[in-house]
Amino acid sequence: MPTRNGFWQEKLKAYIQDRTRELGDGHLALRPPTRQALERLLQDPLFQDQEAVLEAALTDPYFPLGQIPRTVLADVVGMRFFVSKRRPEIQGSLTRAVIAMARLFLRVREDLKRHGNPNRVTGIPLDGRPHPLSPSGWCRLCGTCCQIGGVRAVAPPGMTYPPAWVRMIQGEADPDQFLCPFLFQYFGREIYFCAIHRIKPRACADFGPEDCARCAQDIALHGL
Ligand code: SF4
Ligand code: SF4
Repeated sequence: MPTRNGFWQEKLKAYIQDRTRELGDGHLALRPPTRQALERLLQDPLFQDQEAVLEAALTDPYFPLGQIPRTVLADVVGMRFFVSKRRPEIQGSLTRAVIAMARLFLRVREDLKRHGNPNRVTGIPLDGRPHPLSPSGWCRLCGTCCQIGGVRAVAPPGMTYPPAWVRMIQGEADPDQFLCPFLFQYFGREIYFCAIHRIKPRACADFGPEDCARCAQDIALHGL
């Protein structure tokens, strides 16, 4: 469904490419060409009235931009099926998924800013500086296992999650939720981390190397 000035997916991919490159170079502020790419995207009629939300999320150094081409925009290829993400009838739901991702990310970001003790919740301060992440052992921090609509929000012993977090963790906060909104990206690098790493749900804390191998196999089987 190309719009008058180009297909929104191409504009989004162009922005992601520019922004990823500049974050990787250590530039937090948008360079003029990246700003132009963002403006071209925000002017797309499919994002009308969502400009502020999208701009705030898409320019944040922790927003998981790199997950968008791997999930929302990725064709679904199986042994006997193929779903092209360019099909005109699904463009509305795909743009809603991007908007939901932005909206929920900002909600998490705001909650962590207001209430989160970085040492006890995320593990690093989320202050825009590249603090080293805790050693992740066997986990490559690829983020694939967090490409889920939800997981049961069973908190670590002795704590409870706020009701809004329960809804977000369980995928009930937005009908267009595509992946867990607590998944953050590390400054444009192919490194994804859990924004509530120290207090993540039990199913996530218990996820081990065998689950990881199974997850990779499932992805390979379905070509996602
Ligand atoms: S557990 Fe596996 S799938 Fe999940 S982030 Fe780590 S390496 Fe990736
Ligand atoms: S809570 Fe953290 S570990 Fe669990 S799915 Fe979300 S981002 Fe991944």
